[in-house]
Amino acid sequence: MKARKCIEELMPYGYVPGDEDIARRYGLLVSKVKRFDRNTSPGILPCVKEELRGIAQEGIGNEYPDSRYEELTRLIAEYSDVEPGQVVLGNGADEAIDLLTRAYLSEGGVAVASTPTFSFYKVVSEMNGGRMVEVPRESEGFSLDVEELLGVAGENDADLMFVCNPNNPTGDFTPLATIEEIAKRFGGLLAIDEAYIEFSEGGSAAGLCEKYGNVVIIRTLSKAFGLAGMRIGYLLCPKKVAEQLNKIRQPYNINPVSERLAIAALSNTQEMRENVDALVGERNRIASSLGEMGFGVFPSSTNFLLVKVADAQGAFDRLIRKGLVVRKMEGVLEGILRITVRGKEDNDLLLAELAREKGAGTKNVRKGASGEGIMGAQMPAGEEGSA
Ligand code: PMP
Repeated sequence: MKARKCIEELMPYGYVPGDEDIARRYGLLVSKVKRFDRNTSPGILPCVKEELRGIAQEGIGNEYPDSRYEELTRLIAEYSDVEPGQVVLGNGADEAIDLLTRAYLSEGGVAVASTPTFSFYKVVSEMNGGRMVEVPRESEGFSLDVEELLGVAGENDADLMFVCNPNNPTGDFTPLATIEEIAKRFGGLLAIDEAYIEFSEGGSAAGLCEKYGNVVIIRTLSKAFGLAGMRIGYLLCPKKVAEQLNKIRQPYNINPVSERLAIAALSNTQEMRENVDALVGERNRIASSLGEMGFGVFPSSTNFLLVKVADAQGAFDRLIRKGLVVRKMEGVLEGILRITVRGKEDNDLLLAELAREKGAGTKNVRKGASGEGIMGAQMPAGEEGSA
């Protein structure tokens, strides 16, 4: 018995070991495991905690949620400055990305993306019976090559283009004028992934959705809002695209606890802003400390930093034994660690450990032609991460 060809041949989205698994492997207390590898927020917003207490007292879950999620949709629309009819909810941005790929990537069709970028675009293209063509970011700062990207999209008659902005893992922001240029000239659906937009000073491309009719924005509450475990993502689309996507969205794709917590978080956006301000402050502090220690640190518009280390594998191994889990990059980012910014206390622990390592300047970042394997973290036993 065989699954569909595209499933049999699929290289799956990797397993990232949980805290318990890491603690067991390294003989640590679970509380000692600090995740610097998942680009999440270190804490829970006070309004979310309070809502959780209320939910625990009331009890919840015997009934189905409202499948239109009207209040949550309205709050997302307000927060994003779009109409409610432009919003499509996903069980995490991952599901939202799957929805748009399922709907707009034809059988055997091509999606293009500038790599290194978020590894899920390739997996999702392949699991939906298409493929992804990669356009390497070859400049010193890993910025997007618009002409090359549009050229490759044209040659392959691409249905879909993914632009992650700011980009995971390179951390750079593509100016909105560039995004608009792509929207004007690309004939397929342009998906702009703004998972990290709250950490950036550049604005959102959401205004382009209706203007060009072919732009979809991918967002999540997993990063700035600190709700990764609750799985709440959304798309901002032209209304006509939202209508198509809502036809294939599972009616109850957000569970009622997540729905309530998302409503609480979006009703108190000043708490999210305080979280973002604190993390951006820490990001800048860590970047200068590491720079002073001699490490090459790349500019970042996100909640993580790319840090060039002389012995990245050795540093990774030494850190994880102490419970400090960072992400070791590969491919064009070989020799680089991706470090998620956490709270001050945890960041200080990491800085103290990194002070024992040797840095390497940004100048010698090796550039290669292929994006293959770039997002593979060297987790214990060679498992590949996906966050
Ligand atoms: N887009 C990007 C760029 C990401 O880095 C991630 C997660 N790391 C996601 C989307 C998926 O987010 P979610 O948790 O909402 O599925």
